Amino acid sequence: MSSASRQTRVSFEEAQQIILERAIAGTRIVEVPVASASGSVLAEEVRSPLDMPPFNKAAMDGFAFQRADAEESDTFRIVATVAAGDAPGASLQSGECIRIMTGAPVPSPADTVVPVEETSLLEEDRVKFHDIPARGMHIAPEAEDIRTGDVAVKAGHRIQHQEVAILAAVGRSTVKVYDDPTIAFAATGEELVDPGTPLKPGQIYNSNASSLRSQILRAHGRPHPLGTLRDDPQHLRDRIAAGLEHDMLLLSGGVSMGRFDYVPEVLRSLGIEIVFHQLLVKPAKPTLFGVRDQTLVFGLPGNPISTLYAFDQYVALAIRVFRHHPQPQATRYRGELTESTSGAGDRVLLVPCVCDWAGDHYLLTPLGHHGSADIFAISGANALALIPAGIDEIRRGQMVGFRKLYNY
Ligand code: AMP
Ligand code: MG
Repeated sequence: MSSASRQTRVSFEEAQQIILERAIAGTRIVEVPVASASGSVLAEEVRSPLDMPPFNKAAMDGFAFQRADAEESDTFRIVATVAAGDAPGASLQSGECIRIMTGAPVPSPADTVVPVEETSLLEEDRVKFHDIPARGMHIAPEAEDIRTGDVAVKAGHRIQHQEVAILAAVGRSTVKVYDDPTIAFAATGEELVDPGTPLKPGQIYNSNASSLRSQILRAHGRPHPLGTLRDDPQHLRDRIAAGLEHDMLLLSGGVSMGRFDYVPEVLRSLGIEIVFHQLLVKPAKPTLFGVRDQTLVFGLPGNPISTLYAFDQYVALAIRVFRHHPQPQATRYRGELTESTSGAGDRVLLVPCVCDWAGDHYLLTPLGHHGSADIFAISGANALALIPAGIDEIRRGQMVGFRKLYNY
């Protein structure tokens, strides 16, 4: 190990902390259709230009009437019918009622709605109320939900489906949000061939380019493929330089201790500050994190499981910061291990698991695999159990911390 990498060796927790500190919150603001804004963070304060409801609104299908009239008689004359969407305007006299539908404007001076199921029709235009509701019942008063000028959604709020509904309800079709990061990515390695092409002896398919693209999209980044890069310093330098125009640059492979792992020295030669380059974590120990100006650079070890999990734990965190996520850190859970698992010495061990709900707690079933190239064994994984450093074994039945995988 070089002295440079020893100095830049950090723990799992330190790596997350460093990324939180060094990651850059994006400054570009874009206007997007409200229906496509879910997952983004609002970059404006949205106030309501209207009262909701905009009029006294029937909350049930039934009959609108004046409550005082019911002291005289429980039988009313039906003088009109008002449906949702009808303009307010109908009116009634003492002893009269109006057949009304949920969402329709309650005509004045009616002050109460009796639900249709509490009534029986005596004649075509005469109805008897069996149960007389209290005054004001089954009417949603004008502006009960929000008043004109009130804040509907605060700036900095992360838009979820309910905010999509709120924004649409106050009449917005588009909304300003923080932009997604543009993310250049490339796999490095002389042995790599794109799927769809026949393999020659010594070659393997490039699976990381596909999984990286899919993770970038899922995490709300904009992928910019740089192609497959050869293990040649000059070639790497040229292609990596182009990637530095983006908000982030991801490289898989070429960051370990091998003779042809040129990525760290090429990054240094391009003026990238290497913030860390060794993690006390298994897998993905040689993960590299660097910064140049406004660009974050991640070197992800090329074994497919390492690339998958390094993206999940470190790159996704930086993307959430970029997108102004109010809680960028991954949610932590606890679950019961269904099989004993040994630790990884001085390193935190990330164990791919299938996580199930056992009625009152989570169960974690580790997916045994024989190293970080063995993606075939981890199909179906949806959680990473975190086995702390310095622990020899966690026994079946014990509780461990975990994170859900791909929870962007
Ligand atoms: P490296 O990190 O470049 O030393 O690569 C570590 C291992 O992962 C080697 O066995 C590589 O062949 C393999 N590998 C590297 N990049 C990829 C990739 N893009 N797709 C699949 N396997 C890869
Ligand atoms: Mg390589």
